[in-house]
Amino acid sequence: MIFEQIAVGGCQSYLLGCAERRAAVVIDPQAHAIDRYASLLLREGLRLRYVIDTHTHADHFSGAHELAGRMGARVAAHRLSATPHADLRLEDGDQLMVGDTRLRVLHTPGHTLDSVCLLASDRVFTGDTLLIGSTGRTDLPTGDPGALHDSLFGVLLKLDPALKVYPAHAYDGRSASTIGEEIASNPRLKHRDRAAFVDMMGRLNLSSPVHCTEALRVNTGGGKTIDQLVLDAAAIIAFVASDALAARLEADEPGLTLLDVRERDAFLAGHIPGARHLPRGELELRVNDELTDPTARIVTCCEQGPAATLAAATLRTLGFQRVAALDGGMKDWRGRGLPIELGAESFPTTVSR
Ligand code: FE
Repeated sequence: MIFEQIAVGGCQSYLLGCAERRAAVVIDPQAHAIDRYASLLLREGLRLRYVIDTHTHADHFSGAHELAGRMGARVAAHRLSATPHADLRLEDGDQLMVGDTRLRVLHTPGHTLDSVCLLASDRVFTGDTLLIGSTGRTDLPTGDPGALHDSLFGVLLKLDPALKVYPAHAYDGRSASTIGEEIASNPRLKHRDRAAFVDMMGRLNLSSPVHCTEALRVNTGGGKTIDQLVLDAAAIIAFVASDALAARLEADEPGLTLLDVRERDAFLAGHIPGARHLPRGELELRVNDELTDPTARIVTCCEQGPAATLAAATLRTLGFQRVAALDGGMKDWRGRGLPIELGAESFPTTVSR
């Protein structure tokens, strides 16, 4: 058996491979680490068969769809998972064959309704059902403390105590445990009585994970992260540095249009001299009236960069071929002590000279 544990922050992903048949599965991949999984598979000479999310993650972006697409594998998830990308909808008791290795699916709802644990010969991947010295939380969408109690005490903790436990999160430097160790020392498992367990889970008072709403939107709706949207936009445009733009404005470059896409209040409070104001939200609807020359050099600017990047990419999509965004936005411009103009546009129709 080929086994790799890949930690990204506190999140744990796993690669399990069959040395004989060169087949592999990746469990709980993160979108940020796709290249790491891909290079591990190549290094080991493994063909990726399945990518499995143990549940709908609320704290990070699943890389299952992208990894499976890149490596020609199938996405597997419990049938109750909201992901639109599952090729295989798993049921309790199903087995996946990864070469000579078998992974048995245990439906263990509680942390989420679609939570599964994956049982191999000597180890169990517990997702967020059972963590080292802890359990998954039950206060996020589809969480259910009573169901978690039943999954733990009725299913998982009845397995062989010698089984190694590999969870979806591991903190404090420990990367694995065993069922026996958890029964002996996990403080949450001391609450064997169902009502006491539910009461204990209800009193945890945990803060919401960072990116929770975005992660749920992306992982259940198949959408993109905001970072990905801005990165995709950045890939189809150029950028101009503040000092280079200042020099071109100073030189009265003919045909240069500088477009400030911030809201009106921000524009009035200080903009680059000669900038025209066209808020990002009105860009597509006013473009035909405001930007009449599709061959013009247009530089978009915003407060820090992302909105100007998205605006420039929109203009590129609309057919403006010489569009760029101000790198670092007004924040960078001001930080360099470059000139600022207050109030409304001094060039109401165009800065082309
Ligand atoms: Fe989780």
